[in-house]
Amino acid sequence: MLTLKTPITEIHGIGPTNARRLKHLGINTILDLIYYFPYRHDDFSHVVVVSEIQPNEINTIKAKIQLINNRRSFRRRMFITEGLVADNTGSVKVVWFNQPYLTKILKPGDQIILSGKVDSDHLTPQFISPIYEKVKKEQLHVGRIVPVYSTTENLTQKQIRFFIKSVLFLIKEIKDFLPEVVKKENNLMDLPIALKQVHFPDNQLILQKAIHRLKFDELFLIQLGALQSKKYLQKAKSPAIKFKELTTKKFVKSLPFELTDDQRKASWEIIKDLEKGKPMNRLLEGDVGSGKTVVAKIAMLNTVKNGFQTAFMAPTEILALQHFNNLVLFLKDFNLKIGILTHSQIKTNFSEKISKGRMLKMAESGEIQIMVGTHALIQENVRFKKLSLVIIDEQHRFGVEQRKTLREKSSKQHQLIPHLLSMTATPIPRSLALTIYGDLDLSILLHQPKDRLKIITKIVSPENREKAYQFIKNQIREGRQVFVICPLIEPSDKLGVKSVKQEYEKLDKNIFPDLKIGLLHGKLKPREKEKIMEDLKNNKINILVSTSVVEVGIDIPNATVMMIEGAERFGLAQMHQFRGRVGRSKYQSYCFLFTESESQKTDQRLNALVKSENGFELAEYDLKLRGPGELYGLRQSGLPDLKMASLTDVALIKQTRAAAQNLIDQDPELKNYPLLLQKIAEFQNSIHWE
Ligand code: ADP
Ligand code: MG
Repeated sequence: MLTLKTPITEIHGIGPTNARRLKHLGINTILDLIYYFPYRHDDFSHVVVVSEIQPNEINTIKAKIQLINNRRSFRRRMFITEGLVADNTGSVKVVWFNQPYLTKILKPGDQIILSGKVDSDHLTPQFISPIYEKVKKEQLHVGRIVPVYSTTENLTQKQIRFFIKSVLFLIKEIKDFLPEVVKKENNLMDLPIALKQVHFPDNQLILQKAIHRLKFDELFLIQLGALQSKKYLQKAKSPAIKFKELTTKKFVKSLPFELTDDQRKASWEIIKDLEKGKPMNRLLEGDVGSGKTVVAKIAMLNTVKNGFQTAFMAPTEILALQHFNNLVLFLKDFNLKIGILTHSQIKTNFSEKISKGRMLKMAESGEIQIMVGTHALIQENVRFKKLSLVIIDEQHRFGVEQRKTLREKSSKQHQLIPHLLSMTATPIPRSLALTIYGDLDLSILLHQPKDRLKIITKIVSPENREKAYQFIKNQIREGRQVFVICPLIEPSDKLGVKSVKQEYEKLDKNIFPDLKIGLLHGKLKPREKEKIMEDLKNNKINILVSTSVVEVGIDIPNATVMMIEGAERFGLAQMHQFRGRVGRSKYQSYCFLFTESESQKTDQRLNALVKSENGFELAEYDLKLRGPGELYGLRQSGLPDLKMASLTDVALIKQTRAAAQNLIDQDPELKNYPLLLQKIAEFQNSIHWE
């Protein structure tokens, strides 16, 4: 018997191949399938008769097949399927390309619904490659509002719709976790109805209500989680870390630069937090290059000089290693024991070779004072003697459960909650951060260190491409290096593998045949990535072609050119982050924005990037111009994966916050709502770590 938890492999009609493809999309069970929401809907519900067809537009008709045949076009080297369909007002021609099997599926006499563009360039108007479906009791693909899903190679929309449709009957088993009062006060649809309607809506109005309900759920759960976490932290205890004034002064003096005022202020806020004996829960926000790590180092130094341990976690192995090397260098005068523990790196600053077992022992005995690793560090079986400060790079917040896990990382004698400092370069405006992360305190590094050379940003139109390439050649001749970032060319190419490969080949073969080009994308294995980073560091790669999905939080000071292809497709804040990868040395750096778009809006947006060097400003600007789309970077925000809601939907955030507060006021422990409690826990657990 099928239940919500049944693996998709047991569904009739899903073979091993399709199961594998669905797994790629994160779908393992029937419930996952039901919660796989469409990213948009196409409205093919308006059916016209043949005599009312509008040329050059999308039309949907219901008609009978009169004729259908295949022929081969040798000139165009393809199969062409031609058909004639009719209703009682007339007939119209239909063509499909390279789908000869269609004549096996569709036969003369079949009643079908077609939806697609009608081309009038020919003698008579004709449908070009329309979507088709035989007339049934209930249509899935045409003649209605149809869902469109993001998909993966070789898995069609029709298949996904069919799979989802075939399990929808189980929706009635899903219990609505929202309390009745919340539903009533906020005028929300019941969950099972919303889940059905979001896939196969009866009409636009109901669809909107369904989407609203699902968005509400996500934000409401976040708000409840934040409120719970705040309450928990108010009651909890952490080690009181005394301010080590002399050591701190010595460290600041040892730096090759002066701290900025923002860095001083943030450091002071943190020192004050640490002294309190209550868990610090602080987010340090600052643009790329604003110098967050120095602030973190001050916090770590104070912690270890109080006799405690700290852990430093980065989102990738590459970044972890970078941080390790940097910590060792900057803290060399302080006689500290620093280690790194990741899948591929196990080492310390005081002994050459070391085994994993030995490393774990040194963490547990307290010998290692600073442990660097990836986010997996706290998930794995690493134990500490007195873990008192955890620093997380590029992660915004931690739920209650993770905080409890952290406490249990330390020995029995020291079961205190470690202080937490998260750092992010995502420019979330303060107001927004406070609404989403109601449980966090915020420090912001608004201004960059003064001595930075301004990065010269230029929009490059197609006729100037050659010039730009020439410029790049000169830079490389002088010993510098170059990044090229490519956008996705099609939605199915989620990891952007296809687009970077095309660009790579072009540059490697045609444009810069005598230069060394590297390629970086999300499908590479960690070792392959590391090799590339190694080569890049050693200047064995002149130009690195990369997707945007790959973590580009890398430090290659010798790189001076950031070239962004299809710039109109990226958010401003995101491009600003790319730009932050150059301009890290004494050499003048450049950012080239390539675009073929001639729209005025694109021009305006890209010009904003040319003029502004402030990530916060750019994020707000994009918010205004592009509307409340997803702000870049919020995805890795340490929030559960949002499928529906937008973190920029301030009105709904406020509404859900009020609703959550109301409920907590009435029932602080949520004792009357076990289903809700369970749902919050599940939701928190769906946080992605890497
Ligand atoms: P991010 O905020 O992006 O993590 P980092 O902490 O990596 O920035 O700092 C970027 C670079 O700027 C590093 O090389 C760091 O040593 C340097 N830096 C940090 N603070 C200052 C400062 N006040 N003046 C000059 N350079 C600084
Ligand atoms: Mg950083």
